[in-house]
Amino acid sequence: MNYPQILDDIFQHVQPLLGQGKVADYIPELAHIPLHKFGMAVQMVDGRSFHIGDADEPFSIQSMSKLFTLTLAMQLAGDAIWQRIGREPSGTPFNSLVQLEYENGIPRNPFINVGALVVTDIILTHLNDARQTVLDFVQMLAANPAIHFDEAVARSEAETGFRNVALANFIKSFGNMHNDPAIVLDAYFHHCSLAMSCLDAARAGLFLANEGRLLKSNEQLITHRQAKYIKSLMLTCGLYDAVGDFAYRVGLPGKSGVGGGILAVMPGHFSVCVWSPGLNESGNSLAGTAALELFTTLTGISIF
Ligand code: GLU
Repeated sequence: MNYPQILDDIFQHVQPLLGQGKVADYIPELAHIPLHKFGMAVQMVDGRSFHIGDADEPFSIQSMSKLFTLTLAMQLAGDAIWQRIGREPSGTPFNSLVQLEYENGIPRNPFINVGALVVTDIILTHLNDARQTVLDFVQMLAANPAIHFDEAVARSEAETGFRNVALANFIKSFGNMHNDPAIVLDAYFHHCSLAMSCLDAARAGLFLANEGRLLKSNEQLITHRQAKYIKSLMLTCGLYDAVGDFAYRVGLPGKSGVGGGILAVMPGHFSVCVWSPGLNESGNSLAGTAALELFTTLTGISIF
């Protein structure tokens, strides 16, 4: 398979799409990101990696961080987390309050905001510093100690994230948040503000393609079974309300973020991260989705 050629073809193909879509300006600090950016990195389980475009430029991973926090919570608490979080697509926007009232404060899944707030709460109950733990974890996964929180982005969200504040307090009222909502929110906003490149994120997500094991040390980070659970949730809940369209077009489990990143994995083969900040009406990267669709089409590799 000529991966460099395939990435090159994709890069040419997406050019007319760059500049389309809308950046996530509801977080003011993200409003300034140039629309025409595009990067893509593929990390294979045999150690090879390929990239193109702005693949080494850090971007705001936003909800892609929910993959890493869920992995940590699974490590720490195992199946007990499912007493507090569901495993079904929500069919409502990622920041919706409505369903929670009917469902007694149990979030539909760990990839909507309120689900990730419960995940962060679980990490905080087991460890004192959910912020630093997640930063250390992601730096280790990506083998890059330079990965950092973008404090301006975290502050920007803290100043405008009224809905997330409402969600945190709402589940607290149902007894599904054990720590101080302000501390959980601070950690959550920081996790979302992580600045990583496509190269970082592809490396960091590789354990999911590698049966839960780290490539370099062969350490079993989570069990094979837990890695399966996370990928199943990515496939069914990882792309906001466009999860069906993404599965149809791309055919890989993925997790997107409003920063314009999408991390997807092909079990036993590779992890791939694409970034382009122009979002479609579902909140997923417009050029990024097109690039991943082309990638699975041109390689002929997808889970289906
Ligand atoms: N920090 C963002 C929020 O809570 C994450 C949204 C996303 O990427 O889905 O609104």
